[in-house]
Amino acid sequence: MDKLLSLQTAKDPVSRQHHYVPRTYLRRWSFDGKRIWTLDTVTGAVKPLGLADVCVKENFYRVVGPNGVAHNRVELLFGVVDDELRRLQVLFNDIEDPNVLEFDDLIALGVTVAVQHMRTLQMRRLRQQHHAWLVAQNPDQFTEMNDPENPFLAAGIHTELLFKAMWEAADVLTTRQIEVWHDLDGRFLTCDAPVLIPFIRNVRPSLLEAPYVIWPISPHRAVALANEVIGEKAVIREATGKLVGLVRDGVQQGRERMVFASEAQSGRLPQNKLFRRRAQIRLRCSQWTPRGRYVDPPGCCVEQSEAFAVGPDVDLCNQGLHVPAPNMSDYK
Ligand SMILES: [Zn+2]
Repeated sequence: MDKLLSLQTAKDPVSRQHHYVPRTYLRRWSFDGKRIWTLDTVTGAVKPLGLADVCVKENFYRVVGPNGVAHNRVELLFGVVDDELRRLQVLFNDIEDPNVLEFDDLIALGVTVAVQHMRTLQMRRLRQQHHAWLVAQNPDQFTEMNDPENPFLAAGIHTELLFKAMWEAADVLTTRQIEVWHDLDGRFLTCDAPVLIPFIRNVRPSLLEAPYVIWPISPHRAVALANEVIGEKAVIREATGKLVGLVRDGVQQGRERMVFASEAQSGRLPQNKLFRRRAQIRLRCSQWTPRGRYVDPPGCCVEQSEAFAVGPDVDLCNQGLHVPAPNMSDYK
């Protein structure tokens, strides 16, 4: 925490190349410490790329401060998060006896997974997609997230949402059962949205309902946060073919664009597969609010989740309560 506070007055860092998945995280899959085997699901290309060149976006976290001046200090803050991520990745990758885990490690894991889940390019796109819907519904209340006059607005909105949502997400995640899946054959893949919440019948369950929230940490290990708590600090399980398949499908469906593999698994990357679908915003009308309050008809509450689809999955009532939002498709 002291480290975080000292950043408030820190100098603006020079680098504008912001990694939304830390390089140190991806290095576990690297064959030479510098490059990693990749599948680009847009072009179908399978090739090694430099760790410095993947999961990176210029000014991704450049935001405008209260004084109206743009700065990169959010990226500094993520540097602290990255240090913790690195520590946990090593800890869970090497762990043999779950009893060595301390309470702080369990909390840190929840926070780390929550932040990694929310800080990606995929999350930015989904927020933009949802925001386009909000703008169409309430043009007086919301303005476009992509404003040429204000190029850092999208980063600002995303970052604000992230910091609001991370504690709630960490709260949910820290109540889950930690499982460490170990695969002797090193078959785990990962991707540019490396916290996997596998789709169920093409709908992504909420953090509360997901049977597993999976974070692959190396070709041999994945941390899975399960919703069936058995009261152990952590359970180490040998990964069956079924679990390896769950991670593989979770990676392929959950990726934004790039899939990563160890050198041994690179030959198995599905080079010829068509990847037309990926995560999209899904909107449905409901008579219940997220907090469980009943809404009398003809009123309704729009329930937001994520679907595995080619574009935004919007199917709302035609009572005149909702305005079409074709701009959502700009972010598919
Ligand atoms: Zn409705």
